Amino acid sequence: MSDTLRALIRLSRAAGRRVIKPLQRGDGPNKFRLSAVDTATTTHDGDSGWASRPPAILECPRCESEVLQHHAFDDIDCPRCVAELDYDEFPELSLLRLTCPVCRSEMTHGQRHPEVLDIVEWATCDGCRYHWEFRHSYADVESESGVPTGLPEPGGGAD
Ligand SMILES: [Zn+2]
Ligand SMILES: [Zn+2]
Repeated sequence: MSDTLRALIRLSRAAGRRVIKPLQRGDGPNKFRLSAVDTATTTHDGDSGWASRPPAILECPRCESEVLQHHAFDDIDCPRCVAELDYDEFPELSLLRLTCPVCRSEMTHGQRHPEVLDIVEWATCDGCRYHWEFRHSYADVESESGVPTGLPEPGGGAD
């Protein structure tokens, strides 16, 4: 019984050695490893478009508590009070911060056309370098003064 067990262990050790040896023998640069590093630097370069906007923490207009809107087209429901807002009321609300969808760090964010668009237009994560951009090209935003398509409709009230 124990002899069989020992034999089995010897067999599996031999099999393990056979698998490990060819991997250790490689001489010259490891090309596979080099390409893996290349991929790592480009994997989290980012997204664009309002639909892939990072999760946002907004301020509730009624009770001023923080409301998480995970996806850009989710309803904005305050967990503390009865406030329930549609996603298109986003421009009316104060954006407190954006959360990196990759590593969950707080992101640096800003606007590029504050006179035209009343929403966040870019966000960068200092932790993993993930970058989100509202649009690939802002050419039509810069040429027209109207609100471009793909934006959540601004609500009625202006202040
Ligand atoms: Zn509230
Ligand atoms: Zn990140």
